[in-house]
Formats: sequence, structure tokens, C-alpha cells
Amino acid sequence: MTSPIWHPFTQHALHPAMRPIVKGEGAWLTDAAGARIFDAISSWWVITHGHCHPAIVAAIRDQAGALDQVIFAGYTHPAAEAFAAALLPRLPQTLTRMFFSDSGSTSVEVAIKMALGHFRHRGEARHRIAVMQHGYHGDTVGTMSVGERGVFSQPYDPLLFAVTRLPFPSDPQATLDALESAARRGDLAALVVEPLVLGAGGMLFYPPEVLSEMAAICARHGVLLIADEVMTGWGRTGRFLACDHAAVAPDILCLSKGITGGSLPLAVTCCREEIYASHWSEDLRKTFFHSSSYTANPIACAAGAANLGLWRDEPVQPRIDAITALQAAGAARLARHPGLTGVRAMGTILAAEIGAGGYLSALGPRLLQFFADRNLLIRPLGNTVYLLPPYCSTAAELSLCHDAILEAADAFG
Ligand SMILES: *Cc1c(COP(=O)(O)O)cnc(C)c1O
Repeated sequence: MTSPIWHPFTQHALHPAMRPIVKGEGAWLTDAAGARIFDAISSWWVITHGHCHPAIVAAIRDQAGALDQVIFAGYTHPAAEAFAAALLPRLPQTLTRMFFSDSGSTSVEVAIKMALGHFRHRGEARHRIAVMQHGYHGDTVGTMSVGERGVFSQPYDPLLFAVTRLPFPSDPQATLDALESAARRGDLAALVVEPLVLGAGGMLFYPPEVLSEMAAICARHGVLLIADEVMTGWGRTGRFLACDHAAVAPDILCLSKGITGGSLPLAVTCCREEIYASHWSEDLRKTFFHSSSYTANPIACAAGAANLGLWRDEPVQPRIDAITALQAAGAARLARHPGLTGVRAMGTILAAEIGAGGYLSALGPRLLQFFADRNLLIRPLGNTVYLLPPYCSTAAELSLCHDAILEAADAFG
């Protein structure tokens, strides 16, 4: 019996069988045969407090029985209002407005449209977007345009719009100089970046000072800084936002993934008052023309509000701090293995390279299998192995992962 389902980022010719998962609890998944799997990448970076957290499950259940869905144009509902009210105090004070959508990609699309609309309505001819080499912002045509081009984007390249690419800041001055000269041209509307950690581009880290200097250049030249915190937000880098490490207040902020604790799809794009104000008009043509059918779905918003309730009521930050310390200690252990290079940790994230190769490295699928055989959900990006665990993970569980990476380095390094 074959399934009609076409899976994401999956080459079915090489990977015909999908492992059926029937249960999630804390940091563990259970497959249909009853095997337990440690979810070391938070089910693709979304789970924060653990699977099926009772408070989030209860909020979803209650909301589903009260109001499942309502049009969000001309209407609002308590779940969205509660979510927005709870999120606002956690954001930089200059971010005063929030626009809902359903995924990380759409939150970035919304950010780009906000930026272009802002300048259009103010009568400024700025339409160019700058991005960082190795950036990833989603898989829609717009977000592929602002992401790294390569094997992923090749078939679609003719459709993608041109952007200005800044080199990855291995040499920070080169990045800052490139931004400065792009900003001087006067047509730059926005810089879109993942603050501090480029996730899908290979878990590449750069220091907070580079982010704050990029923000300063943007501010000096009237360029909007769009922070794509879809992955880095909700504590992954050790602080609530990665921008918090640099005390940077972006002009536009994209949040998704951990926004509902990983339970349901939801996203928000937050912006400064000026951006909202430039669309505010009795002229209908200045309306922000964006929506999706499920914008601010009440059940997803209730899960988001419950997630923020956990941030308020549970020791989430101490858990993150504990994982941060364990990952730093794990990285120190891993760094001594000659088969591993580039061992690095930031907050709850740990990454390293095994051997050489890049994303299409033949090692990738072999590593995936190696970890799956040990009941660890670790999905390397090519030969880059990383951990991005839920915050309920224990020292023993993280040790299992560190040991497995060392074992993989023995086998493949
Ligand atoms: C995952 C991710 C996205 C896309 O989010 P989706 O919900 O998959 O559309 C965008 N930006 C970053 C930084 C991401 O990690």
C-alpha cells in the first residue's frame, strides 16, 4: 500500500518509507511500533516547552468548543486580544503593532510588503531589499527571493526578484561596508536578516555587535531593519529574542515557530508605529492588502496565549539557562574530538561539522540514518549536525545526544 502523500524536503526515490509517529510527550515522540524517539530538533524548531504541554492542550480544547474560526477583517476575538496583550510587553517598546498570519514564510512576506507599502505611501522611491549570504526566510517565491540561491531555488530562479546580498560576516567589516554602500544608494527599503543565527543556512553564528552595527547603519540611512526571528525567537538563543543580546529594536519583527509552543501554526509580524501610520488613511488605496483565510485563527491564538502564560507562570528562562550551560559544556567536550570541526553553541543550540561536504553531502542521509537507528531525531543540514532541543530536555537526554554525535564523529569524521 503506498500513500498518496508527497512529503516536504523529501526525495521519495531515496527515502520511500516515512516513520509513523502516533504520540508526543515532553521531549519524546512514540512511533507506531512503540519505539520512543528523542526529539533533539524540536520537530523542526517549533516545540519549546515539550510536546502536548497540558496547559496548551487545555487552551486548545476550550477554545475549540467556544469559537473555532471567525473572519478577522472587521472582527476580533478574545484569544487574539489576549495573545497580543501578553506578547506586547515582551517586545522592544518601539514595536507597537502586530499583524497575524499563519507561518514563518508568510510573516516574512508580510514584513516585506509592510516595508514596501510604507515607502510607497510616503512617496519615497525605495524598493530594494538587502539580505545576508546563507540567509533563509521560507519557501514561497517572495521568501526564496530574499534567501540564499542554490539547488533549492534553481528551478524557480527566473521568477525571483533581485536583491542586494551582503557577505556572511566572517569578516564583519566587509559585511558592514557592503551594507553601508548599499544604503548610500538611497533606494534601499529594508535589510532582512536572521539575528545571530542563520538556521537553515547551516546554523551559522555571528556576534551581537555585528547585528547592532547593521542596525545603526540602517537607522542612519532610513533603511528598515526586518528581524526574521522565526527560528531564533522564543528563547532559542538564550534570550527571548536574539535581538535582545544586542539590545537591538528592529523596525519589523517576524515571529512564528515557537509562538504556540509548537502546537499549531501561527505567526505575527510586529512593526513600529510609523509603518502602521503610513498605511493609516481615509484613502482606501493605502489599506494594507494582505490576509489569509485563517488569519488569527482563534484556536491557534488561544494556544499562543497559553504559551505566553507558560512564559509568565513557569520557570522557562531558568530552564533555558540550564540547557544553555549543558550545551556549552557539551560543545567543550565535542571540540576535543578531531573528527568534528566548527563546534559551537549559542543558547540552547549546538552545532558542528562532521567531515566535509555541504548540504548535498552524501554524509547527510547516512548521518540521518545513524541517529534514527539510535532513536534520536537529529536531522543534519548536509554534514552540519545540530541540536535544538525542547526546554524540558534533561541533562541525561542532552548527554545521549552529545554521545551520539561523538560516536558519529568516530564513524564518519
Ligand atoms: C522556518 C523559518 C522560516 C519559514 O517558516 P515556515 O513556518 O516554515 O514558513 C522563515 N525564517 C526562518 C528564519 C526560519 O527558520
